[in-house]
Amino acid sequence: MAKIRLFIDHPLVAGQPVPVDGPQAHYLSGVMRLRPGDAVSVFNGRDGEWQATLLDAGKRGGSLSVVAQTAVQQDPPDLWLMFAPIKKARTDFIVEKAAEMGAARILPVQTDHTNSDRIRQDRLQAHAIEAAEQCGGTFVPPVADLAPLSRVLDGWDPARRILWADESRAGPAETLAGLPQGPWAILIGPEGGFSATERTHLARLPFVTPVSLGPRILRADTAAVAALALWQAALGDWR
Ligand code: SAH
Repeated sequence: MAKIRLFIDHPLVAGQPVPVDGPQAHYLSGVMRLRPGDAVSVFNGRDGEWQATLLDAGKRGGSLSVVAQTAVQQDPPDLWLMFAPIKKARTDFIVEKAAEMGAARILPVQTDHTNSDRIRQDRLQAHAIEAAEQCGGTFVPPVADLAPLSRVLDGWDPARRILWADESRAGPAETLAGLPQGPWAILIGPEGGFSATERTHLARLPFVTPVSLGPRILRADTAAVAALALWQAALGDWR
């Protein structure tokens, strides 16, 4: 049986009990049919992975006993993913994949051609947690609230470079191997692409590097995964 991994936002210390909430208790006893004494892996996003055993699980919640650390904390490289939210299922997909691919922070941004003007931040954060639970990660990228791209760029720290997936450069894919190390953010546009105003703005920011993601125009969710893979392979923890 696959190892059961649970994210618990609580300090993890050997010999200490930790609470689990109602839905987690239901998952452990109702869905996975665990009994008191059975093993569960837990992580809190800060202290690595720990082996724990189930103490009790009821309708309102339950508790686990933390036994010993099984993996040290592993944080992803300092890479953010900025993307314009698209349809619900595809937005969920982008957040899930970003967590799996090792993004350190996820920032939904509203662009001129963004179709949605609100997101369910709590739901997206839950998707990031679920992705970390299933991919064996010990880190959960925080998902920010939706913010206008122009405002995000106005307050931007120029020490963090932006890799701008620019659909107008569609053509031979570019190698990222020569790009400098350090903090980066990937920027992916919505289905309608970037507006003329946004292109002019982005093109004159010194910390922005436009890139092609190959000869075909990708959907935004595909583009996000492709850009994360290119960056991780050239500058990140895939090397
Ligand atoms: N409607 C636009 C395409 C938008 S694709 C058009 O027809 O031109 C959605 C986003 O994915 C783009 O804004 C860009 O960030 C990224 N993207 C898709 N294909 C790309 C490519 N070949 N090169 C660079 N970025 C790409």
